[in-house]
Amino acid sequence: MYTAAAAAAYHAYDNISRNAGSSVDTQTRSSVQELNVRIEKQDLIIQTLLMLLLEKKVIHEDEFRDWLIYVDELDGVRDGRVRANKAPTACPKCSRNNSPGAVKCQYCGEELEQEFLSRRPQ
Ligand SMILES: [Zn+2]
Repeated sequence: MYTAAAAAAYHAYDNISRNAGSSVDTQTRSSVQELNVRIEKQDLIIQTLLMLLLEKKVIHEDEFRDWLIYVDELDGVRDGRVRANKAPTACPKCSRNNSPGAVKCQYCGEELEQEFLSRRPQ
């Protein structure tokens, strides 16, 4: 699996390598290598879990694909990755801003619309 984080890390590393020639900061080099190793370990775990779920028929491939799209779109952008939602949620009743992902308004208790819940795969 080739993740966006790995691509970004590699791109940063590649730029540093080119600009600094052989004098690439060794701390930067080891940080990038460490990050790549962590990503590869996470890829292994994710692939193992997915293969196990498919093999044991806990989920079907189509079902996984539907959920993948659903989870991808939770951050508002269908781009093959998930980013933390940092936008505040405005209350429909009192108009005050609440923390991202809040379920109820912290000021008036109004239920905040969880629009994505209606799109959840069956
Ligand atoms: Zn409110």
